[in-house]
Amino acid sequence: MPQSKTVNRRVVLARHPRGAPTLQDFRFEEVPLPTPREGEVLLRTVYLSLDPYMRNMMDEVGPGYAPPVKPGERMVGGTVSRVVESKHPSFRAGELVLSNAGWQDYAVSDGKDLVALGEMARPSWALGGLGMPAFTAYVGLLDLGQPKAGETVVVAAATGAVGAVVGQLAKLRGARVVGIAGGQDKCRYAVEELGFDVCLDRRDSNLAERLAAACPNGIDVYFENVGGEVFDAVLPLLNNHARVPVCGVISNYNADSLPPGPNQLPRLLTTVLQKRIRLEGFIILDHYATRFEDFRRDMGAWLGAGKVKLREDVVDGMENAPAAFIGLLEGRNFGKLVVRVGDAS
Ligand code: NDP
Repeated sequence: MPQSKTVNRRVVLARHPRGAPTLQDFRFEEVPLPTPREGEVLLRTVYLSLDPYMRNMMDEVGPGYAPPVKPGERMVGGTVSRVVESKHPSFRAGELVLSNAGWQDYAVSDGKDLVALGEMARPSWALGGLGMPAFTAYVGLLDLGQPKAGETVVVAAATGAVGAVVGQLAKLRGARVVGIAGGQDKCRYAVEELGFDVCLDRRDSNLAERLAAACPNGIDVYFENVGGEVFDAVLPLLNNHARVPVCGVISNYNADSLPPGPNQLPRLLTTVLQKRIRLEGFIILDHYATRFEDFRRDMGAWLGAGKVKLREDVVDGMENAPAAFIGLLEGRNFGKLVVRVGDAS
């Protein structure tokens, strides 16, 4: 459905989901276009990023690093937007910006959350390979994981926005990379296109045995994206002094209770202690001030030299955003998930 010039379509949270979100947890609304005041800009959304953290924002108790979305409030999210009208000295009409406009066609901003993008050949990359997810891979793997040549790195959600970059950067560091992904197509892509050494299907009933066979020298870096059964398979294979950057636990995001026993905590803590493992959680928002410029420089160079490949999963139309987001939590996306909300020009 094309964007109107007079009506602002937006998606609000209808209610907190119970378990996996359904379409009924979202509601579409149409409101008049907002009007920018002095010092503000009117933005039109071109691309909306869909990211797993949004699931945590839909819960009554949010993730802690940002306030949760309440029922009736607009869904939050990063966007690439065009400035339609500017009453702000630093932005001009027609310019492309990175914004936090959320799930809607139009937004007003005072400029504080905006980053001018210039004219990019692939503006949506500002939400993926040149933006937050790839930056997460860069900080989590290089600063926390610190892989060395010859070490074994394991990453799940291996063809996703974060995981695909983790694996490629680990290869650039000379590591052996074992990916875990949902299905044969994703695994084939990880090996044949991204250059991973091995990729295993996370739904394989023998995952633990297959992972052990794929990691004959154990695991030195496990980049944690998913938790659950994948973590259970990884834990016994971790080497002394292994590093485990804890980036995400997507297999838990839809859970509204703890899994049934037995309680695995003693096994986890004993392994962490005896193998001197460094398990370190991180939230990427904390690292922009110190590392984003380094990331932009390095990633720009790697992309330019063809050393890192990016894959996007582009969904057309904001009306399809809720279904696409539900699919992300089931592994239906193949690459960085973005919604093309409006015309790029
Ligand atoms: P992806 O593009 O990788 O999409 C999510 C993928 O997760 C799915 O495609 C699927 O991949 C996998 N998945 C979904 N459900 C499950 C499940 N039940 N068990 C195992 N895997 C599942 O998303 P991102 O790359 O954007 O995010 C990856 C992780 O990084 C998430 O946990 C996210 O929360 C986290 N993250 C953390 C940040 C931080 O600051 N700490 C910042 C950004 C992301 P497949 O089908 O291949 O299994």
